[in-house]
Amino acid sequence: MIAGQWINGRAVAGSGGAFDVTNPADGSVIETLTLASAADVDAAVMAAAAAFPAWSSATPAERSTALHDLARLMSARAQEYAEVESAQAGKPIRLASEFDVPGSIDNAEFFAGAARHLQGSAATEWDGTHTSTIRREAIGVVGSIAPWNYPLQMAMWKMLPAVAAGNTIVLKPSELTPLTTLMLAEDATAAGFPDGVFNVITGTGQVAGEALMGHADVRMVSFTGSTRVGLRVAEVATAGLKRLHLELGGKAPFVVFADADLQAAIHGAVAGALINTGQDCTAATRAYVHSSIYEDFVAGVAKLMDTVVLGATDDLATDLGPLISIAQQQKVAGMVERAVADGAMVRCGGTIPDLPGSYYSPTLITDAAQDSDIVQNEVFGPVLVALPFDTDDQAIALANDTPYGLAASAWTTDVVRAHRASRDIQAGCVWINDHIPIVSEMPHGGFKQSGFGKDMSSYSFEEYTQVKHVSMDITGDAHKDWHRTIFAMKGD
Ligand code: NAD
Repeated sequence: MIAGQWINGRAVAGSGGAFDVTNPADGSVIETLTLASAADVDAAVMAAAAAFPAWSSATPAERSTALHDLARLMSARAQEYAEVESAQAGKPIRLASEFDVPGSIDNAEFFAGAARHLQGSAATEWDGTHTSTIRREAIGVVGSIAPWNYPLQMAMWKMLPAVAAGNTIVLKPSELTPLTTLMLAEDATAAGFPDGVFNVITGTGQVAGEALMGHADVRMVSFTGSTRVGLRVAEVATAGLKRLHLELGGKAPFVVFADADLQAAIHGAVAGALINTGQDCTAATRAYVHSSIYEDFVAGVAKLMDTVVLGATDDLATDLGPLISIAQQQKVAGMVERAVADGAMVRCGGTIPDLPGSYYSPTLITDAAQDSDIVQNEVFGPVLVALPFDTDDQAIALANDTPYGLAASAWTTDVVRAHRASRDIQAGCVWINDHIPIVSEMPHGGFKQSGFGKDMSSYSFEEYTQVKHVSMDITGDAHKDWHRTIFAMKGD
């Protein structure tokens, strides 16, 4: 049994009862920990509030040094991070060790640099009589809530910009996958984060999540998760007039024009749809393919999906791991079954393989209606739907025809088409001739019901600061010229 909470620089047992963290690949218990109650959340927020004055007035260089040291400590046990992440989230070890962990460490390095690079408008006398300067100030205690699909990366995307900008934070990971976030908190303290700057509370959404969002001393709520829960988060944060940052669901289109490199598109579609077993908010989910190459695309994707190796997540030969839980497996299977009942065709997969844990086979679906559940809503599994189109305008209209707008890709060798697609597709990120790659320097975040606010990059850093205008009179006059508009010039 481990504590489950990291409050004020140390491991603390929660008073919300015991919870088993399990490995979705075989259902085995990895760790038992205690969950947070509302009282534990309160203690964490109090610790963060107490740490705020000193941390927000630390020099940027001091904050930067702590972040660099965190990156160094994480690098020293990168393999352990990858193994724990793989076990708790059901990720193939290749994905955890080549994507999740190095990406997280690179993020820490980026924000260590960003901490020393605040930007603002020119300080000058805009009206000739006052010197204006802009201060970028930390906001206070940030309450952050993260999902289970990329536990370590999501914790980093929440914590790093907040702390680099001088805020203190209470972060709630999903109770299904808290272990690498707790390792991160331990390393942050060892790296010199003062007590209370970064607190982790492991608890359920209903208890710990609600208590955190509603806490009076939390000034900003930063949430990554489903659009359904995001709506509830917005409601609570709005009631407390808290600053809000929402990274929600996605349903990324993958548009293949007639002139595309077909082999590149086929490989891109399979990789983009199956990354993290499709449990990726930017995963390719809807392939719209020009009718002249549609059947070749479908045949190529089905053939490549068939070669994907499902297996134990600690085996380097495994391509695809399980879904996060049996409940998620049943949800995915149910959506595919309903699509078939409504007339769609399964061209590959569509089965629960004979393996322990919560696996689902790579699945390609055709002949679904544009307005059907499987095309419109998040499946969050290894399922790609392919549909044909005839004109460029039709392709863009179909791509934009869901409530989401997180990410998209367009595949073409025509530079004009590439530019038009990147302009017309309504999404926070449009890839041209690729799908998925991300970098610490560039923003990630949605349009429409995929939320608002950006993770990573300097855009994210700015979100965790508030802008203050300082206006300083430089005339030294007792009677300012503008006073004439209020009262006549009388007296000395
Ligand atoms: P979820 O919305 O069910 O849960 C996310 C987090 O919210 C968890 O920590 C959960 O405990 C908490 N929560 C649940 N109910 C709550 C409540 N009432 N109050 C406060 N907190 C509550 O999402 P999930 O199933 O963990 O993750 C998958 C979802 O996350 C998908 O929709 C995916 O698209 C989305 N996601 C989005 C991004 C992005 O950057 N836009 C990144 C990763 C995942």
